[in-house]
Amino acid sequence: MFDYQIKENSLQGKTILVTGAGDGIGKQAALTYSSLGATVILLGKTVEKLEKVYDEIVAQGAPEPAIIPLDLKGATKKNYHDMSSTIVDQFGKLDGALLNASTLGELTPFETIHEQIWTDVMQINVTAQFLLAQALLPALKLAPNASLAFTSSGVGNKGRAFWGAYSVSKFATEGMMQVIADEYDNTNIRCNAINPGATNTPMRNKAYPAEDKTSIATPVDIMPLYVYLMSDDSVDVNGERINAQ
Ligand code: NDP
Repeated sequence: MFDYQIKENSLQGKTILVTGAGDGIGKQAALTYSSLGATVILLGKTVEKLEKVYDEIVAQGAPEPAIIPLDLKGATKKNYHDMSSTIVDQFGKLDGALLNASTLGELTPFETIHEQIWTDVMQINVTAQFLLAQALLPALKLAPNASLAFTSSGVGNKGRAFWGAYSVSKFATEGMMQVIADEYDNTNIRCNAINPGATNTPMRNKAYPAEDKTSIATPVDIMPLYVYLMSDDSVDVNGERINAQ
């Protein structure tokens, strides 16, 4: 695992947006960030899942979160800009954004990738990330130290048979991260990408249904990197692709 000791209250006073906060890694990141004192903004597709995470956070006695139900497949530029303005109105700034939500599409030979699946994967994993990042940058500029974290994959810098659109979308994600990191170098905004590694979540179970789930990491196991990138300990880290495992 990424070698970092999580410190109590290390995210106190920070407001952090987590996309895909209703399930899998994003859910755990939201719970962990709030347990360390952050106010989290939970963005996701399924409202009931976000409400459950909200209830868990409130039950922990952590700062009250906010919920933003949004389907990245259909959301428009205006949706993202309205969201960013609301964040600034409510919280005054955004200290961190974990762009975690994505879709796997279908694992299939390249010759049989459906055009619609390709389009959906690119919309959710690339175009929506672009629109989100563009809309959030003005809110991130208002924080003393802001962290924008994209989510890549083991197939995000090395292509792999049958991972088609998903793999290509993660290459694009890493490219976007590098462009932003270079443009904002030596500013208050740092931008990096996380490679979570094999982690037991609904997405992993879809990709590897027959796998022994006890043999891979849990979302809790990979949290040190997720916390590090949102904490002030990583203020000088920019433009990196970092393995959580
Ligand atoms: P899951 O599929 O388990 O969770 C994804 C989350 O994203 C869900 O909460 C889901 O919401 C949300 N989401 C999906 N599509 C949309 C959409 N169109 N609009 C809004 N929200 C959406 O994925 P993981 O937790 O496994 O993965 C998290 C990230 O880590 C992803 O970027 C993935 O590519 C990456 N990753 C994961 C690995 C693993 O082993 N798990 C390995 C490498 C990378 P809902 O539940 O409502 O559908």
